[in-house]
Amino acid sequence: EVRVRFAPSPTGALHIGGVRTALYNYLFAKKNNGKFLLRIEDTDQNRFVPGAEEYIKDALEWIGVVPDESPWSEGQYGPYRQSERKPMYMQYALDLVEKGHAYYAFDTAEELEAMRERLTAARVVSPQYNSITRAQMKNSLTLPDDEVKERLASGDPYVIRIKIPRKEEVRLNDMIRGWVMVHSSTLDDKVLMKSDGMPTYHLANIVDDHLMHITHVIRGEEWLPSAPLHVLLYKYFGWEDTMPQFAHLPLLMKPDGNGKLSKRDAEKHGFPIFPLDWTDPTSGEKAQGFKESGYLPDAFLNFLAFLGWNPGDHREIFSVDELIEAFSIDRIGKSGTKFDINKAKWFNEQYLRSKLDAELAEYLLTDLSKEGISISQDKAESIVTLMKERATFPSDLWKEGKFMIIAPDTFDEGVAAKRWNNEAVTVLSTYRDKLLSLDDDLNPENAKTLLEAAAEENGIKLGKVMQAVRLAVTGIGAGPDLMQVFTILGKKELSKRIDFALD
Ligand code: GLU
Repeated sequence: EVRVRFAPSPTGALHIGGVRTALYNYLFAKKNNGKFLLRIEDTDQNRFVPGAEEYIKDALEWIGVVPDESPWSEGQYGPYRQSERKPMYMQYALDLVEKGHAYYAFDTAEELEAMRERLTAARVVSPQYNSITRAQMKNSLTLPDDEVKERLASGDPYVIRIKIPRKEEVRLNDMIRGWVMVHSSTLDDKVLMKSDGMPTYHLANIVDDHLMHITHVIRGEEWLPSAPLHVLLYKYFGWEDTMPQFAHLPLLMKPDGNGKLSKRDAEKHGFPIFPLDWTDPTSGEKAQGFKESGYLPDAFLNFLAFLGWNPGDHREIFSVDELIEAFSIDRIGKSGTKFDINKAKWFNEQYLRSKLDAELAEYLLTDLSKEGISISQDKAESIVTLMKERATFPSDLWKEGKFMIIAPDTFDEGVAAKRWNNEAVTVLSTYRDKLLSLDDDLNPENAKTLLEAAAEENGIKLGKVMQAVRLAVTGIGAGPDLMQVFTILGKKELSKRIDFALD
């Protein structure tokens, strides 16, 4: 059975790259009739941020990417929060010590700092704790056995480090990137157990993936450098046979393709890169969310799916079920994906337009009730029918359709200067008179016929005054089909507005 996991650390708001990782895991699991797990990786207590876990849950629920097993709905391999699994890890670290693949290290912070300074002075580019430097350190590999025992017994603080082999080629076959080979001399003796008795990410992640029977690890490319270490751990534990397959997802790039997408890009350009609004509990810093910015969850999900994957043909609009059907890891690209907010807007427009008018009318009526305005369901639906082709977000229905609900009290000066003249005044006042003596309700046809007649009777070409007519009724120079607007307003409101404009 395929079992995949999303393993976020609750260190802040889940960003868009994280949600994409969750989505790809979800799609892959569903496609293969497998299970999608969520595990909270909270072993780094210094980086724990209150509210971050809730945020992860809410964000995934918003788009309907709900895990089969998680801290909130445990499966049989729980707990699903690493902090709650703390007692499980030490035995695995000790197992590696016993096998000679890991060792206690008693080095103090000062000693580590001194080592780094020494290496930096010797022009070592990235000072590492490795097979060469560990020979000079105060760890168990340079201490006699009984001294090690003594120090452990007397409660000296220690960490447990992996013993990276000196000369070994570490390989892994990534599902997206193919063979990745790394020489062990470039790896360092990473800490597996910290002095507070908590495992590091590397140890906990491998132990848990093993215990939770994970078959595929689908995660961001930023974890690729850790993968060789993970491969070594699987080997040293003797779990090679059940080692998951890795798939490292391409990075999300800035809109111009130059470098990794960052929070700063979002702030600079005023677009969201977080699924939901977020206020950092310590700094008070705010980040804007897709949800609160007016993105529809299905549109956002569709946009997300295309950040690194494509179906191999021209289709772009996919429901979740269609995505599950079409998804495959070999259609995920190797190179970084440019983040393009206009694409997100485009998806939102498509989804907005495909909604029923009655459903969209709800958005409009809700916005209106916040303004203390009420209109009939019928009127709301007619406005929506007319405006939805021009809307990107549900809030545009109110913003852009306002003129159909509230009569203008000012008129666009620029348009007025160019278009307002005696001919327009003549046509408008004749039209107003015709409206007043009209028995029927206004519809797009009679609205048009009367307007044409009003122009013709005065020997004026309608085309020449059309924009002035629009200005008089709506206050602005452009908008949706005017006869539809007139119909929505009705003849009474329309003639009232003309009166006001002529006044
Ligand atoms: N806890 C890691 C993160 O925050 C998980 C990486 C992985 O999937 O292995 O992304």
